Amino acid sequence: MSDDSGFHMPLAEFRRHGHDLVDWIADYLETVEQRPILATTGPGDVRAGLPAHPNEEPESFDAVLADLDRVILPGITHWQHPGWFAYFPANTSPPSILGELVSAGLGVQGMLWSTSPAATEVESLMLDWLVELLGLPGSWRVDTGPGGGVIQMSASDSTHTALVVARERARRNGAAPQDLVVYASSQAHSSIEKGARVAGLEHLRLLPVDDELALDVGALRDAVARDVAAGRTPCAVVSAVGTTGTTAVDPVRAIGQVARASGMWHHVDAAYAGTAMVCPELRHLQDGLETADSYTVNPHKWMFTSFDCSAFWVADRQELVQTLSVLPAYLRDAASETGEVVDYRDWHVPLGRRFRALKLMFVLRSYGAVGLRHHVREHLRLARELADRLAADPRFALVAPVPFALVCFRLVAGDDATTALARQVNESGRYAVTASELPDRTAFIRVSVGQTSTEQRHVDGLWSLLDALA
Ligand code: PLP
Repeated sequence: MSDDSGFHMPLAEFRRHGHDLVDWIADYLETVEQRPILATTGPGDVRAGLPAHPNEEPESFDAVLADLDRVILPGITHWQHPGWFAYFPANTSPPSILGELVSAGLGVQGMLWSTSPAATEVESLMLDWLVELLGLPGSWRVDTGPGGGVIQMSASDSTHTALVVARERARRNGAAPQDLVVYASSQAHSSIEKGARVAGLEHLRLLPVDDELALDVGALRDAVARDVAAGRTPCAVVSAVGTTGTTAVDPVRAIGQVARASGMWHHVDAAYAGTAMVCPELRHLQDGLETADSYTVNPHKWMFTSFDCSAFWVADRQELVQTLSVLPAYLRDAASETGEVVDYRDWHVPLGRRFRALKLMFVLRSYGAVGLRHHVREHLRLARELADRLAADPRFALVAPVPFALVCFRLVAGDDATTALARQVNESGRYAVTASELPDRTAFIRVSVGQTSTEQRHVDGLWSLLDALA
């Protein structure tokens, strides 16, 4: 180091690298389509490409950056590639990236309102905005309602948190922890099972589904009755608006009625499909949300906001805060004691928290409701068009309805042919899809349309490839 900044990077150098790196990211996004979509490295290659031991003397930052292209990029699976149809999207977008940059630059910890009031207030406001944008119950707003929203790291954290609050409510009502039961459909995301385990809830009933793979409410009623008769206590039920496998939609209102009748917590998992509710014409699919005690949607999937950003609401924030609040002397705070501010440390497991709401604000303000609706509707249209093509071709069969932008289909030639087709598509280097199985083990392919920069030509290209390979 030649100046008096010790070993710190001088700000002039930071400025230069920062500008270069923004250019690097823009170049990456501009050219990602030309890269092989899946990582080209084998196990251990990336590690082997980097020094085996930490350097004793400082390295030039130029040398560090050179490894981005040389070592890191070959080991990247390109989720931002417009041919990304695998899993669900994990989108980013230029406004989101800039929001991340500012958040990193400010480096604040928003655990208490007073440790950075802007971090808390922007987050509360953004979650209130999402209530409006997604047609969620107005009582979930932080500013006016008994409820409120918070950004969690992931939908898994949101669900885990919901189940912990549900457990505490049941315990306050006199139930024994070992008797508590959680219900969801057999198609519920694995995070429900993990969340129940983490919350110490031993009994999980993964219930049968109907022909459209949505939870069978009759089966829920029967299971609850059986558990009550056996002396157990129904604790929580999870509805999915858009299951991971096929985006099936559970009957939220009917499930909510069972929950109310039996005193259960009702959590709604709309991790992927919740974003579609920017389009009012789809909101009938979430009818009954006012029966929910908690709800989660991931802007980090389809809402152009980089991971991590999972939005989580509770209908009554007091129950959440009561469950998670622990107050050591070093966290006592005058503003908190007024009761007039939100301290988000009490709304989830971690204490420290990043200023994640900035990237969400940058995205929401920069796209506007019109922009979000435009892109989501375009993805929905492209998915339906692909579904129509598949349905009209006797070589293919759709295996599930297409309520959102996920198309699930198989080759009528059978499971082996279907699995081989998914593999060949992925080997093309231009598109990524996911091979999966229905509950009866029938193989199918998931095509999730929704990457930030996916356009008509990408879905057309995928269709041409499927057509050629089938
Ligand atoms: N719930 C559903 C319906 C999902 O599809 C997913 C992930 O795809 C999750 C939960 C888990 O999301 P996260 O990775 O944010 O925990």
